[in-house]
Amino acid sequence: MAEQKRDYYEVLGVAKDASDEDLKKAYRKLAKKYHPDMNPGDKNAEAKFKEASEAYAVLSDADKRRQYDQFGHAAFDGTGGFGAGGFDFNTADFGDIFGDLFGDFFGGGRRGPANGPMKGANVRTSVRITFLEAITGVEKEITLNLKDPCPTCSGTGAKPGTTPQMCPKCGGKGQVVFTQQSFFGTVRNVQTCPDCGGSGKIIKDKCTQCGGSGYITSRKTIKVSIPAGIDNGQSVRIRDKGEPGVNGGPRGDLLVEVIVEQHPEFIRQDYNIFSTVPISYAIAALGGSIVINTVDGKVIYDVKAGTQTDTRIRLKGKGVPTIRNQAIRGDHYVTLVVETPSKLSKEAKELLRQFDALTGDSLGEADRATGENKKDGKTKKEQQPKKKKFWKN
Ligand SMILES: [Zn+2]
Ligand SMILES: [Zn+2]
Repeated sequence: MAEQKRDYYEVLGVAKDASDEDLKKAYRKLAKKYHPDMNPGDKNAEAKFKEASEAYAVLSDADKRRQYDQFGHAAFDGTGGFGAGGFDFNTADFGDIFGDLFGDFFGGGRRGPANGPMKGANVRTSVRITFLEAITGVEKEITLNLKDPCPTCSGTGAKPGTTPQMCPKCGGKGQVVFTQQSFFGTVRNVQTCPDCGGSGKIIKDKCTQCGGSGYITSRKTIKVSIPAGIDNGQSVRIRDKGEPGVNGGPRGDLLVEVIVEQHPEFIRQDYNIFSTVPISYAIAALGGSIVINTVDGKVIYDVKAGTQTDTRIRLKGKGVPTIRNQAIRGDHYVTLVVETPSKLSKEAKELLRQFDALTGDSLGEADRATGENKKDGKTKKEQQPKKKKFWKN
């Protein structure tokens, strides 16, 4: 049996609660360092690269990560794809990973011979949804232009009845090698063939429908299932809806970035929701029931007597569902703000004065402090001209 496997989080050097972005960053760093292309013939680097790739393949997949968090390596023992002999790279979607990660330093993630089967490019688009749709999940239709292999020439780009010729410059390899002398010796450079653009073929008679490109573009409508809990800026991947593959390679994917509109009342932070609810002075002082809007609808909440302004309450489980498990939800935090009445009737004002007289006479406090006597019923405003106050600038 293989030796004891290292913990995947340890392999990537991230915390257990690392975000997808953290994982990607950590993996990108390790992959750059240990990639076989960067370390030709170095078995240790290759092993490290495989270990990191395996860890990333598992942890970057929400389902697999959940299984791993629960059962550890045992989650994948003896089941499809993860036999005792280790990790099966064939079942893991490394095309995606490399496409995403290495686009910037491996020339678009295209590796191997230029005229071999290549996965098509990923297509990116975006869709706008409301705040509440992000909470419940939603299905959207998006329309976009997608390439398909040209039906007239079956994607060859050559006029029917003719066939593309092998490129004489590169001999069909799609790449040309040229040597360069430098101070350090002879350097062999591999470059995409300039004559055929890497296809290895030259088309003499171009297909008239596609103009020799081998593709036609048409408007397509695609359904996108957006999972509950998705946050602004996250993307949904739809397999095989990207550009067609080259030389029999699979299609790329469609990556739909989700733009979540703001809500007039709710603010989201991770999986929690925050809102502010005004309460009257009477409710704050005496206690009573108030109505709070949540993403699940209205909730009746009993405010305790003597509640101060800016008191924050927690409505447990009324937040955003987590993408991995809809049953697990964040919380909704509500800040209760005591509202000061600004328009009072004469009668209400009088009652408030009486109330104040019964509860410590705050209206008379300043006068007591300055030793002045105040006649009953007079407001501060009426007394103001008698007072002398100095402010230093
Ligand atoms: Zn064509
Ligand atoms: Zn060529």
